[in-house]
Amino acid sequence: MDGKIKILNFTPEEIQRILEDMGEASYKGKQFCKWVYEKAVTDAEKMTDLSLGMRNLIENRFDICLVRASDEKISADGSIKLLCILKDGEAVEIVLIRHPGRNTLCLSTQAGCRYGCSFCASARSGFSRNLDVGEIISQVLIAKQRFPGGRLNNIVYMGVGEPLDNFENVVKSLGIISSEKGFNIGQRKITVSTCGVAPRIIDFADLGKQYELSVSLHAATDETRNRLMPVNKIYPLKELLKACEYFYNRTKREVTFEYVLLKGVNDSGKDAESLIKLNRGFKSKVNIIPYNAAMCSEFMPPDKEAVSSFCDRLSDAGLKVTVRWSKGSDINAACGQLRFLRKNDKARQGVE
Ligand code: SAH
Repeated sequence: MDGKIKILNFTPEEIQRILEDMGEASYKGKQFCKWVYEKAVTDAEKMTDLSLGMRNLIENRFDICLVRASDEKISADGSIKLLCILKDGEAVEIVLIRHPGRNTLCLSTQAGCRYGCSFCASARSGFSRNLDVGEIISQVLIAKQRFPGGRLNNIVYMGVGEPLDNFENVVKSLGIISSEKGFNIGQRKITVSTCGVAPRIIDFADLGKQYELSVSLHAATDETRNRLMPVNKIYPLKELLKACEYFYNRTKREVTFEYVLLKGVNDSGKDAESLIKLNRGFKSKVNIIPYNAAMCSEFMPPDKEAVSSFCDRLSDAGLKVTVRWSKGSDINAACGQLRFLRKNDKARQGVE
């Protein structure tokens, strides 16, 4: 576009080298990275300990933040959902979640998603493209700018898109986020969530890192899972579980199975029994997410009693269970809902 270098596509080491190649001393690259990753400052003018020449160079040669936050929604539970507009007009979403003592960012990896899970809004607005590394990193910057004191403790790759479908860029972004020279967030504080792309789970395990893995399971039999998640027809449960077991053996990190409870679809006693059986092979946790039905959909959220009896059955059988009431359900914060609404609005206005 304007020929500037999208500098956040690069690792801190690469940035240092780029600046060195431009004739700058290596400490200047370090200073620049400190401003960006530690202080989330993206405006060269505000990088006050840099020389004027260096600030001009940054201003003229680098494009730093690649996303623009718009449409902020604050939920009654305190979570903030932002629609992030990319330079080509595509949009993704992030959610900023405040827990006592820790702040979490839920970020997106693709504009849209190709996996078509039947209950998920991301699938409905179609797939446009992968995000590049800088676009993923820019979401982290925006989050740091919004959290008081820039405190960001956890990152979950659970926004729009399938992270393992954008493998290379996601892995590079994970490196930058966890690097001491980058955002310096511990590997165990970063979770990547997948709908179950089995071969990529093996590649992810083979990185030999300590990132957390969440698998969106949502059903414990092939029959139900095929109905909810087309990916199951390519990588059925047996293959998916083999990959999860490989991940556990390779990293010694417990896998978290996400299970969206849908009324009358996967919330019966029999479903709970199947889930218990499935969890017997290796160490895992189950995270129950009562369906967030903020938008028109063929599915219904489970009754409160169904949630507790489902969870009780699992814990009585010795499983580690948590329930995650979807954050920001009053502001359409479930995966892909804002992007979907924007696309629909634009379509209505005849923009697209
Ligand atoms: N593609 C990845 C990353 C998205 S994570 C994956 O599937 O894991 C988003 C999580 O929210 C997934 O577990 C997804 O299945 C779940 N989800 C999507 N729509 C939802 C809804 N309406 N209510 C509750 N959970 C939902």
